[in-house]
Amino acid sequence: MGLASTWANESHRWEFLKRLITYGYRCYVPSPAMRALDRLTASVPRFVVTCNCNGRFERAGFSSDGILETEGSYARLCCSAGCSDETYDALAFFGASDVPRCPRCGAALDVAVDDTGRISRLEPFHSQEANLRAFLARHADERVCVLELGVGQRNQAIKAPLMAWAESAPLASYVVLNREDPILPSLSSERVASACGDLGEALVALAEGAR
Ligand SMILES: [Zn+2]
Repeated sequence: MGLASTWANESHRWEFLKRLITYGYRCYVPSPAMRALDRLTASVPRFVVTCNCNGRFERAGFSSDGILETEGSYARLCCSAGCSDETYDALAFFGASDVPRCPRCGAALDVAVDDTGRISRLEPFHSQEANLRAFLARHADERVCVLELGVGQRNQAIKAPLMAWAESAPLASYVVLNREDPILPSLSSERVASACGDLGEALVALAEGAR
């Protein structure tokens, strides 16, 4: 709501953004669910696709080369006038008292978060998409598990393309953890599974079981 709100002036908006970035990203301590997910996947090639825009996977130790943030991240700032495709480290502007400005045109910088598709033109998000395509191509003939965690079951941005990819990859399996009734890809029964319930509890149990 804060991001979508109209603020009285640029300073008020930047004060809000600083609070948001501090709370959501800068001070983030990885949760038990995040630590369990890290333990479960740390020993194999892995790639995270997320519509969360709080930069937390990187904070939790996941490599920036293996993350696609489909709606951007408020760990990055971009020109509010849209004059270029560059983004900037948000924390680099925390020391200054003034509203951060675009070095090219002088407009205020704002968080690089967007769900209309513009974000895929900006770096690093453009490269993140290429990294995902390369990852899926590299592992297309291997035993890949798509672990779908808490995604809306009618989601078209992340779930639908990953289900289609799993259906096209000969050895891929697909696991859904969700509170909703699962929608599953068309795969043979030994290649698909689902569990209904709390994500944190399920990941911690899986990580303990995998020891
Ligand atoms: Zn600009």
